[in-house]
Amino acid sequence: MATAVHTNTDQAFQRCLAPDCGATYDVGEVRTSCGECGGLLDVSYDWDRINVPDSLRWFEKKWARRNEPLCRSGVWRFHEMLPFAPAEKVVTIGEGQTLLSPSDGVAKYVGLNAGGLYLEYEGLNPSGSFKDNGMTAAFTHAHTIGAKRAACASTGNTSASLALYCGVSKLMKGVIFIGSGKISYGKLSQALDYGALTIQIAGDFDDAMQRVRQVSEQLGIYLVNSVNPFRLEGQKTIMYRVLESLNWEVPDWIVVPGGNLGNSSSFGKAFMEMLELGLIDRAPRLAVINATGADTLHELYEVHGQRWNDGQIDQQTTSAFFDDMDKHNRRASTIASAIEINRPVNYEKCLRALAVCDGVVREVTDQEILDAKSQVGANGFGCEPASGASVAGAKKLREEGVIAPSDRVVCVLTGHQLKDPTATVAYHTADQDEFNRVLASRGVQRAEFANRAVAVPNDLDQIVQAIQLNS
Ligand SMILES: *Cc1c(COP(=O)(O)O)cnc(C)c1O
Ligand SMILES: [Zn+2]
Repeated sequence: MATAVHTNTDQAFQRCLAPDCGATYDVGEVRTSCGECGGLLDVSYDWDRINVPDSLRWFEKKWARRNEPLCRSGVWRFHEMLPFAPAEKVVTIGEGQTLLSPSDGVAKYVGLNAGGLYLEYEGLNPSGSFKDNGMTAAFTHAHTIGAKRAACASTGNTSASLALYCGVSKLMKGVIFIGSGKISYGKLSQALDYGALTIQIAGDFDDAMQRVRQVSEQLGIYLVNSVNPFRLEGQKTIMYRVLESLNWEVPDWIVVPGGNLGNSSSFGKAFMEMLELGLIDRAPRLAVINATGADTLHELYEVHGQRWNDGQIDQQTTSAFFDDMDKHNRRASTIASAIEINRPVNYEKCLRALAVCDGVVREVTDQEILDAKSQVGANGFGCEPASGASVAGAKKLREEGVIAPSDRVVCVLTGHQLKDPTATVAYHTADQDEFNRVLASRGVQRAEFANRAVAVPNDLDQIVQAIQLNS
């Protein structure tokens, strides 16, 4: 049984994902891709030289030391599983104190037995989305290498998170790239309020992503996008917390929305490593859910049958797919702005995660997303539209019989309900013009679960009557 935290950066390194390249780089090197082949990088560990606990239960000890910031953080409590930085360099703001909450109301909607559905509320993070799990890790890496500026392109939540870490720590200046008109007000307001330099580009997320890579290279700014392999290390801890909440029992399914595919990739890596270390004896199955208006992964994995194939990915099919996308100028479009992405940067890592977790990919319409989201709201804390995709996807897989009624299913709710009030209000509104403007234009026909405000004159009797009629 391990008793002490040993995190020596010699034991961590960066490694190219492509097995036939496998180039390695020092953990202190700032890279966004492999210098040999241009592939994605992984943070890898020499586990033999690391004092890893021999049981996940060992981590429960940290609860007794919650006065220490690294034990209080839901990310750094698991420092032994992401030992790339020494404890004194860790930048934490107490992220990752999230809940796994059973919901029988949502279970019923999805078609699962009572007790079988759990919601992992990542919206409870300091900036309101799961992105804080990854940002604390990337920010820590940036700090260890002495970065003074950090940048990202974002559909909103990454920028909110980066801006928050900059604001609290004052260690770096945040530079944020967003597509014009694509970001929800909740998220934009955070970046501005936390004081980040906000660059609004005439274009969409994919455009902003391309530019931020160019600019950060030219100006030597640290890039915290999900191509950053350190972010994914922090996001692994979402799965440790899920297991912890289930008394270290592995559920049957993890269901997560897929945008840039950082989250799904990190979950796969978490399970891959836990299997390797003998900390679990099986991985859960993974379901990654796209929106129909941004369904690259679904197309490539389910329609074109692309697989990880031990790293021998069929590059030809993938390139042809993206060439065709460019030729027809196909742009991502969904109300779930956090997953409105056509060129997922972690595509190949996600294929590996799907291989580790015997995964499936599904796509759900904006209608299905908003209906599912309303069920989450009506049964608890609520979520933003992208998160509703996980519940909508679980329902679809249940209807197909891929998920059994008796399965234990964890849906990850990636972002807070208040991130995108426009979508929520438009769904529940009685104002047909507002509904049409925000939702009908996206193919949403009806709001089956709308909870409409009751309009009454400013008159006591009529107010009383309205309450009695409606309750
Ligand atoms: C970023 C984000 C996603 C997509 O996650 P990826 O790791 O990019 O696949 C989904 N939901 C919310 C709320 C997000 O902020
Ligand atoms: Zn390489």
